[in-house]
Amino acid sequence: MGRFVIDTHVHGQRVAVNFEDREEKPDYATLSKLMWTAEDEDLADEDDEVVTYRNTERLLYDMDIYDVDMVALQPGFGFSDRLHEKMVEEHPDKFVAFAHPYETNRKAVAGEEEWDIDRACEELDERLSKDAFVGIGEMLPFDPTIVERAERMSWEERHDQLRKIYDVAAKHDVPVRWHPGSVNGGYERDPGTLLPDRRDIKYAIDLHLEYPEVPIIIDHGGVQGNWRKNVEESCNVAATYDNVYIEIGNYWSDLIKRPMNDPNIGPEQLIFGTDWGASWIAARNQANRTTGEYDYPPQRWTQIKSRGLQAHQADAWGSTMRQIDEYARETDLPADELNLIMGGNVCRLLDIDPPHKRLFPEYI
Ligand SMILES: [Zn+2]
Repeated sequence: MGRFVIDTHVHGQRVAVNFEDREEKPDYATLSKLMWTAEDEDLADEDDEVVTYRNTERLLYDMDIYDVDMVALQPGFGFSDRLHEKMVEEHPDKFVAFAHPYETNRKAVAGEEEWDIDRACEELDERLSKDAFVGIGEMLPFDPTIVERAERMSWEERHDQLRKIYDVAAKHDVPVRWHPGSVNGGYERDPGTLLPDRRDIKYAIDLHLEYPEVPIIIDHGGVQGNWRKNVEESCNVAATYDNVYIEIGNYWSDLIKRPMNDPNIGPEQLIFGTDWGASWIAARNQANRTTGEYDYPPQRWTQIKSRGLQAHQADAWGSTMRQIDEYARETDLPADELNLIMGGNVCRLLDIDPPHKRLFPEYI
């Protein structure tokens, strides 16, 4: 798929919940809550019911099969920054990691300490002072207990929190990740509805005015939830500023045309981020093409609730690379442009050295 391929959105850990021995319903909502209670594999003892493991072997297997050179590890819900640091130390040529306030969040969910933005930012600051960590995300940190309380936050309150997070990003010269929407809509007790920045990516403009030097990565390119609104608004933010990057790994081939055909976005602002390792699958529309405004997309990443929790590792790269390949063939996309999307832009953004100089387009 390219000269040097980097997936910017990979979940390289897995959480063993052992639903067989639990009373809770094995559904996605219960799973995301239990994930915050997990103990790291090397610290866990037999009393720990929920344990987080490094999924390194499976990840390296897929990287080899699909010729993916590097990945950016994302914490998502409750994955361990501690284990991410170890993973990067074990494979510094293959992994980098994004940081989140892992300890602050866990203590809040356990009811040990109320969530506090200043402590969350101290934690981010400490994390980003280590070489393993190159950015803040997935999504902008928030108090995970708002989900329990179904508490909607005002923009004024959230804006103050985000300024503090941006202060840390600016200090360490790293990107932040905005995550518009949630999988399958997320309209019930979900940060996708409760937080203004998750409801509306347009708020990114307010922060960018104050912190123009902090780059933004848009998780999933806004394709989660209400994709017609979130993709369109993500593209408007990316068209406004050059240092805003859209992850297109979950786009179907036709949808890639939206940012690529926009003369103010194009291949310099698109990056390959898929969500490898997340609990969702690619579902296909039997018509296999978009036939109208109210049609279901030809291929969409989703959780199918009626099937229950998925036990297998979805083949993220098989499905996503075929969509990008289809787009590239249909539009005769020059390889130089594809190389930017598949890795070149991220090398520049995250200061990653590819194996050789002059692999990506540059002009004197
Ligand atoms: Zn993710």
